[in-house]
Order: sequence, then C-alpha cells, then structure tokens
Amino acid sequence: MLEVETVDRILRLRGDGLPVLSLYVRVDPADRRAFPSRVDEQLHEVRLLAKDTALDRDARLSLRGDIERVEEAVQEERLHPRAVAFFSCSGRGVFEDVELPRPVRDRQVVDETTWVRPLLAVLDEYHRCRVVVADRGRARFFDLYQNEMVECPGRLRDRTLRKPDYAAGMREHTVHNKAELLAKRHYRAVAERLDEEARRHEFDIIAFGGHDHEIPELLDHLPAAVRERVAGTFSVHPGEQDLGRIHRLADQVVERYERAEEQRLVTETLERCSSGGLAVVGLTECLWAGTTAAVNQLLVQDEAVLPGAVCDHDGYLGVEEDRCPVCGRELRRTPDVVDELVQAVIDQGGSVEHVAAETPLRVQVTAATLRFRPPPHPAV
Ligand SMILES: [Zn+2]
Repeated sequence: MLEVETVDRILRLRGDGLPVLSLYVRVDPADRRAFPSRVDEQLHEVRLLAKDTALDRDARLSLRGDIERVEEAVQEERLHPRAVAFFSCSGRGVFEDVELPRPVRDRQVVDETTWVRPLLAVLDEYHRCRVVVADRGRARFFDLYQNEMVECPGRLRDRTLRKPDYAAGMREHTVHNKAELLAKRHYRAVAERLDEEARRHEFDIIAFGGHDHEIPELLDHLPAAVRERVAGTFSVHPGEQDLGRIHRLADQVVERYERAEEQRLVTETLERCSSGGLAVVGLTECLWAGTTAAVNQLLVQDEAVLPGAVCDHDGYLGVEEDRCPVCGRELRRTPDVVDELVQAVIDQGGSVEHVAAETPLRVQVTAATLRFRPPPHPAV
C-alpha cells in the first residue's frame, strides 16, 4: 500500500547538486513479462547520460547507482499494478518505487527534483478513507486506501456504565445521566482524534460503522470540518472481529461516495457547457482542448477505448484525420486516443477523473472543464 509518508518523501526529494531519476513504466496486464524490457528501454537514455562527461563525476556515479537499483527492483514480484514509478538518487541514498493502479506513459526524467505529476494525477483519483468502528465506549480506526485496509494504532476505550449500580445507592435517572456523560466524553475523544488527523491530512473521507441507533449521536459530536468528510455509515457490531467484513462494508461506503461524486462532476460540467461556460462535452472537442492545453479537469468514461490519431510533432489529437491540421504532417494512428488525451492532460498539469457511474458520458465518452477557451479548430 502506498503510504502518505512515501508520497511526502518523494515530493521532498532533492538531489542537492546530484541528479534525481524519475522513471515511469507501464505494466501491460496481457503481457506482464514485457515489463523488464520496457524498463530497460527507458534506462537506455539514462545509461547514455551516465557516460556523458559533460556531467561531473559524482553525478555520473550517482546515475550509475540509480540504474543498478532500478534493475534490481524490476526483478521483484509485484501484485497487479498497471504501472510502476521509480524515484532514485543513489548518491543521496534515496530510492522509492511505487505501484500505480492506473497506466501512465513510459517516461524517464533526470532533474534536480522528482517528477511527480503522473504520480499525483493517478493518486488524486483515490480517496484515503478513515474507517471508524465505534460504540459508546470503544472505537477502532482503520486506514482504507486503494482497496487495502489496515488498523491504525491506538484503539480508544473509555469508561462506560453498563449495569445500573443500584447497590451503590444511585437512583436510576442518576445512573442514566452518568452513563450519558461518559458516552459524551467518549464521543468527544473520538471527534478530537479525527479532527487532529484531518488537520494532518491523514484522510479525505470517513466511513462510520457501529450500531445504527448510536451513530447519529457520535456524528453530532464531530466538528464541521470533520463532519463534511463523512462519506457514509454502515451497520456493524462494534466488536466485530472479522476485519474482512468491516473492509467490505467500508468499501461499499467509499464506492457509493465515489459514484455520487462522479455523477456530480459530470452534471456540473455538462451544465457549465450548456450554459456557455468554460467546459466542453464530447471526444472531438475534448481532443482539441487537450491539444491546446486548455483542459482543467478531464472526465472520461472508465474503460473507454477509441482509435484515433496523434501528431508526434505538435501533439495534435484527432479521431479520423490522416494529416495534422496544425502542421500538415502525417498523423500516427493509435488504437486508443482517449488514453493519449488522458496522458496529455496529466502532462499539462490538469486533473483526470475516470467515471464508472451511470452518466451521459456513456455516450459522450469525455467532458472537460477548461482553463481558457481554446482557439478555433484549424480544420473548421
Ligand atoms: Zn502536427
């Protein structure tokens, strides 16, 4: 699982005079064995650079170390990533490899700092969920991210008053008040912990599990900034020991939340377009917006694959043309122009959201909000 700390480390990584290698390589699910040779292909340029006497000796040695480290890491067994990103500066003793759940373009960049745009674009789509299973006296916390769930250290166990202690001479309503007081104290402790974790950006959304009749009161104790991150609740016994069950129930909450968010994004973008705002709908318009780097956020129908054409000279993206209307050169045919568009938007610093929910994108395939209105299409 990709930890927040790992991403932080990668973002902060500096060569301090030494080169930093960032390498992204796709894993083709139909041909996993091709992965090492794809990595090798990307390393070719780096090998040339490591021999380039224009670089000083320390830089060349560091790059050689990077190449060795990547070659080692390629041999490691991996589950089912769609791409792997490597970040290395061996002269500073730094190496990170990250498995990505979506494909990215094969690419190597050698620079002063890490090249993280594709990494962040992929991770942006996944919500880090804090799962809380609680009742009036106990609370457990889990981190759910990219389909993996781990329990966070530090369960809360606060004092509860379970059986009325009549022997101690307390009257029933006193016992009740005392029990309520203890429960409120416990709820406040849960709320405080979540508030602190939210401030440290440890999660994006929360899924609450517990007894149906207790959850509303717990939610009432959350500060507004935490409350607005609650994606949903699920019914589970607070003492549930089957973590697989908690995982499944929390997954459903996240799933519903993500589909609803996708629907909201599509609706907003379509409305913006129809009211003449900065948005476009449909593949042809989105391809031109992508060509001109005008895309702010691209919404794309999940799993959509459509053939098209690319100009390798200026990045023109089209569907049916043979020649580039911008420069007149012959276009390269591609089996998946939607993917070319996604990668172009990522390269330009835009964001991408894959839409799996039932929306008009099933027909339109893509829609996008824009940073600016693109110039008129040269073919029109
Ligand atoms: Zn062109």
